[in-house]
Amino acid sequence: MKQKRVGKIWLGSWLLVLMIGSVSADKVNDSGDARWAEINTRNEQLKSNLDWFFGGKSQRGWSLYLPLISTLIETDQPLGSKEFAAALTRWQQLRGLPATGLLNQETWMKMVEQWQGCRSKDRTIPTAEKLHTVSGTEFYDPERPLELRQVERETYAAYKRMVSAASRDLNLSLDANGMLPASETYLKIISAFRSPEYQQKLRQQSPNSGRAGLAVNSPHFTGRALDLYVGGEPVSTKDANRAVQVNTKVYRWLVKNAGKFGFIPYFYEPWHWEYNPQAAKHR
Ligand SMILES: [Zn+2]
Repeated sequence: MKQKRVGKIWLGSWLLVLMIGSVSADKVNDSGDARWAEINTRNEQLKSNLDWFFGGKSQRGWSLYLPLISTLIETDQPLGSKEFAAALTRWQQLRGLPATGLLNQETWMKMVEQWQGCRSKDRTIPTAEKLHTVSGTEFYDPERPLELRQVERETYAAYKRMVSAASRDLNLSLDANGMLPASETYLKIISAFRSPEYQQKLRQQSPNSGRAGLAVNSPHFTGRALDLYVGGEPVSTKDANRAVQVNTKVYRWLVKNAGKFGFIPYFYEPWHWEYNPQAAKHR
């Protein structure tokens, strides 16, 4: 009697397992869309909540980097679309990451690694002949002193080509010399070549500044790094300011097009672009 009951329970349990198994298999087969929706819901949360660490401080979410992310995973479709999740999944597959479609910690840090990996490690200080002094009108601050208006020559030529293309695409006005007029602020140069001596002076003036702009080993030493005006406060890393900058049409244009002119973004500072044509080609 007792054995019979145990047998019944045993058989019942197996039937239950089989039923649950077949139900969940059906669910997966019949609801591809539900799976994408689930991925999108999760990404919507990660966009604002993912905790990560960069530049000596904790960071939250990745919404500020959406224009860069879209270009990286090669999609024009917005976050929340099936196409965006699918493009992210493909990107993960190509990099040997779990193809979940989720922009989680592992995938996000891989993106940061890729952007940072494209930046030039070269910090060679250019000789005087390699530097071109740019007119004050091409600077965001036209009063900027002469010694702070130098740009490495090839970088300057590439910058001019880029400004000319951007002005066409974005309807920015140019003057008769093909320069941005005084009335235009977008794409003007905020900062270019900064000598190690000048950088040290800046650090002494504000020793507690944690800003990357005051870095000991700055890419601005090469004359190939340009800070360009893309909106908002010119060079503030405050999230609220960067949220303004990454939504300007000028910034979005740069994200899509600067690579054609040899410029690589620094993902964390929307205004900072580095002339590195070799890396731009392989991006
Ligand atoms: Zn910079």
